[in-house]
Formats: sequence, C-alpha cells, structure tokens
Amino acid sequence: MAKRDYYEVLEVNRNASDTEIKKAYRRLAIKYHPDKNPGDKQAEEKFKELTEAYAVLSDAQRRATYDQFGHAGMNSGGFSSGGFDFGGSPFEDIFGDIFGDIFSGGARRGARGHRGDDLRYNLTISFEDAAFGAEKNLQLPRKQACDSCSGSGARKGTEAQTCNTCRGAGQVRFQQGFFTMTRPCPDCRGEGTIIADPCPDCRGTGLVRKKRNLSLKIPAGVETDSRLKLSGEGEAGSHGGPPGDLYVVIRVEDHPIFEREGQDVICEVPISFVQAALGCEIEVPTLEGKVSLKVPAGTQSGKIFKLTGKGIISLQGYGRGDQLVILRIEVPTRLDARQRELLEEFAAVSGEDIHPLGKGFFDKVKELFG
Ligand SMILES: [Zn+2]
Ligand SMILES: [Zn+2]
Repeated sequence: MAKRDYYEVLEVNRNASDTEIKKAYRRLAIKYHPDKNPGDKQAEEKFKELTEAYAVLSDAQRRATYDQFGHAGMNSGGFSSGGFDFGGSPFEDIFGDIFGDIFSGGARRGARGHRGDDLRYNLTISFEDAAFGAEKNLQLPRKQACDSCSGSGARKGTEAQTCNTCRGAGQVRFQQGFFTMTRPCPDCRGEGTIIADPCPDCRGTGLVRKKRNLSLKIPAGVETDSRLKLSGEGEAGSHGGPPGDLYVVIRVEDHPIFEREGQDVICEVPISFVQAALGCEIEVPTLEGKVSLKVPAGTQSGKIFKLTGKGIISLQGYGRGDQLVILRIEVPTRLDARQRELLEEFAAVSGEDIHPLGKGFFDKVKELFG
C-alpha cells in the first residue's frame, strides 16, 4: 500500500498552522485511539499513521524536509518513517505533550519501584566544630534492603510473580465515558508483582529497619540550620527503586565566651577601670588559643579591637572572618576605706579632667533643657 500524504492523513491543508495540525491530530487520535477501538486492526493502523504524520508535521524542520522531498526525504537524517516505533519514546513524547495524563500513556510503562523516603537527622555540634569542621560518626536507623530476600520481599528460594490482573503494568484501564482511564491495579496495589510466599524477615516488604553507622564530614563554617545532603543515604527504595537522601540539619551549641556574627567571632573582655586608664597588655582568648592585646591608656568601654583572620572559615572554602574583641570596663563595686580615700583624693586633684567625654555631653544637655 502506498504511503498516504501526511497532510491528507491529518486532514489539513498544506498551509495549516501548528495549532491546526495539533488540533487535527488530537481530534483524530481520540477517534482512532486503540483504547476506544479494542481489537480493531484498521483503527490501530490509522492511529499509527496519524501519529507518524504528526511526528513529522509538528516538527518544523522535519515538516520542511517533508514539504520539499516528500516521504523520500523522511528516510534520511535519522528519522525513518518506515520503522516508526509505535511504542517508543517519540510516541510517548507526542502523546504526553498533547494528552497529558488523560490517556493511559503511563500504562505502557511497567510498574516501577518506589524511591525511598528522605531522612532528616538533627545533629548538635560544638561551636569549635562548626568553626573548623569535624568528622562525626552517626548511627541512624533507616530502612534497608532485607538481607534474607535481597529486597525482593519473596521468601528465600521463591520469586515474586507477575500480577495477572495488570500483567505487570501496575495499572488497570477502565472506561469512563469517552475516555479510557487508568488506576493502580487493585490486586498488586500498583506493584506489578504478587508475592505468594512472603519473606518472614521483612513480611514481604523487602525492607527492614536497621541501624547504620555513617561517617559524616562537617565542613568548616556551618551554622545552625545548615543542611548537609547525603545523596542516597535515606531510606532504601522498594522493588528496585532508588534510595532517598539524608539531610543532616546542624544545630550549633552556644559557646561560653564566643558569639558568632556571620564569619566573625565576637568576644567581650572585661578590664578594670584602672587598666583602661593606665593602659595595659591583656590576654584575649581566640578559637585557637590566647593572644596578647595591647590596650592603650585612656581606652573607653565598648571599644572594639579587631583580630584579623581569627574568625570563622567561610563555608565556601575561601576567606576567613575576624575576631572582634569588645572591651567592657568594670567599676569596682566595693571599696575599702583606703581605696575610697585614694579615689577621693584622685578626684580632688583631677577636676574635670577625669571625665573627658562628660563635658561635651553635659553641654549638650544644657542646650536642650536650659
Ligand atoms: Zn496488578
Ligand atoms: Zn525479606
């Protein structure tokens, strides 16, 4: 039988727009769809012819070739009209594109294993581990393939049988008005297979819950709510499905003397008012031990000293924050008689000089309130 012209097949003229072609295909495909015409060989042939014509005319480049060379042009360039694959992916692409899930595009595919669930693991780490990174051993319970049945769910020595109801597809078709719909097979619950003799260790699920030891590398620079993804370390998939992923969610413990602000470490250091007035050299803690810091005479409370590069390493792996040292000047809360005497004498000889910022401040108060 001579091949019919594609435009003729789709019942459109040669100038038809893409939309017209799509509409025509849709109308005819519904008419000749095998699900609507069970056992009708002629309808099946028509449907194949239709799909082939649409595959060419819906593709601008193929359509141009066809317009120029006719069917002869279709046998070159990797697209063979003679060997058009009815059930292959070009078909499914077109099909899915036009009809979405209305028809049973999915029923053609066999039942698939289910992907395992993702797991979340909350991990609390120290401030230092967050700053420098660490390696932790986790022990987490998760579903894994059952050893006794190698994950099949069938008792050792037996096999799961292909479901007769859906012939392994996992779905069954049913008619609803005009359309053929699919739903999960009721007999195998969509699995496509039936286990006559379930494995006693996993009760036919193919999965068992086990504790697993996992070594986790925590990169330097993580902070609370950082999420580390370990691909494939979640629950095992069922029936050959891929495993889920594991998400480790970090919580960083508070530190007794350090606080974190982005990549900077902040530390408040108390010094006495005498040290501040006379100047001194103090030891300041950092994440990597103590360093010495020169405090100049006359340093005010709240003064911030920056220790460059003593902060936290960037999570991206380059750069490092600073440590900010905030000085808090303490006033003595108890004075003995001798100390009080000396301070009063100090005040008497100093006048306003002991209060360098005070003059300016009280001048402003005067301006405001008179
Ligand atoms: Zn079934
Ligand atoms: Zn088992």
